[in-house]
Amino acid sequence: MAELRYRAPKGTYDLVFPESERTERVLALAGEVLTLRGYRRISTPVLENTELFRRSIGEDTDIVTKEMYTFEDRGGESLTMRPEGTAPVIRAYLERGLYAEGLPQKLFYFGPMFRRERPQAGRFRQFYQIGAEAVGSADPLIDAEIISISAVLFQRLGLERYRLVLNSVGCRNCRPGYREVLTGYLEGIAPSLCEQCRKRAKTNPMRVFDCKEEGCREALSGAPAIAEHICPECREHFEGVMGGLEMLEVPFDVDRSLVRGLDYYTKTAFEFQFEGLGAQNAVSAGGRYDYLAEELGGPPTPGVGFSMGVERLMMSLDSEGLGMFEELEQMIVFVAGVEGVDRGRVFSLLKEIRDASFSADADFMGRSLKAQMKQADRLGAMLVMIVGGEELERGGVALRDLGRSEQWDIPIGDAVSEIERFLEGTR
Ligand SMILES: [Zn+2]
Ligand SMILES: [Zn+2]
Repeated sequence: MAELRYRAPKGTYDLVFPESERTERVLALAGEVLTLRGYRRISTPVLENTELFRRSIGEDTDIVTKEMYTFEDRGGESLTMRPEGTAPVIRAYLERGLYAEGLPQKLFYFGPMFRRERPQAGRFRQFYQIGAEAVGSADPLIDAEIISISAVLFQRLGLERYRLVLNSVGCRNCRPGYREVLTGYLEGIAPSLCEQCRKRAKTNPMRVFDCKEEGCREALSGAPAIAEHICPECREHFEGVMGGLEMLEVPFDVDRSLVRGLDYYTKTAFEFQFEGLGAQNAVSAGGRYDYLAEELGGPPTPGVGFSMGVERLMMSLDSEGLGMFEELEQMIVFVAGVEGVDRGRVFSLLKEIRDASFSADADFMGRSLKAQMKQADRLGAMLVMIVGGEELERGGVALRDLGRSEQWDIPIGDAVSEIERFLEGTR
């Protein structure tokens, strides 16, 4: 084959069968877990006005400064391909007046997100997320509910090798005090910090915890933790979240160094970290964002949410040999035509079987009967219906059970009822 001229852009991938269908099933399961808890699906555009993300995620975060796909459209408007799902959902919540529908609004979404990061294992430039937001409630028990959704989905999928880490990142009242303490500490260790962290120390000191540089990580190991500086209200809320998780039987560890890479988080922050995924080990993460709606020009509206990386979720399933859904490859009937048969007979039987909601396929390549039998096998068909020859002249077709290599004749008018009997095991 000549060298390919077109390839998928760097950091993107094609999802083909059976992986595509497998992913679809995992999403369906996630939808079931969410729906069972009163969350309803929301779908927002892939494109948003750039300002939405600058305002919500934060001007000096890595996402906004380096990773967004931002462009000016032909009308001169600055648009950005969404790098995350929370800000668009809150934008929609405000724009559509969802608060009038009763609170909390429990919303979930599935969809692709875009960040121009350096591609590596488990990190893509177009990646798929499952996410949920509970908007309008400050109740710590709703934080526990949001956190538990990932744990329930992991359990349903059989995943066990993970750890839930939890922290409180404070609020408007306690953060300034902590920021001062942290700034003082950072001044003392400035020579050991990378250039960017020295800059962050002045503009947005909590961002230093996002730095991936080894030197910075080491220098920060003795940094004061926000958890020791949160106000009584934040502490009480945090205790409520922990109590809720205990009630829901979701084990967790408190990690005092956990701060999430977006500016809008307040109080609860959490991450599910998986073993065996390397550096990109957070499969699901999220937190509370009580000021986000205000930042976007809405009324004060507390909220909490999570997002889960579907690629990393699938990788964890792979690493544990789970979620293979063996029946994916299964088809019920392959309708095979004997050489020279009127294809109209094959095609109308195919229609009849499909109309009865049995998966079925036939040959479209002009193959011999022998080659069609092979194709049926490759498609994972349980039965082959052989159309043609003497049987057809007598008004019949042959049905072949590929599993047991048994074959029998049936009247052509009984095709669907014979398939039903075969599936019920009453033949
Ligand atoms: Zn506080
Ligand atoms: Zn650094």
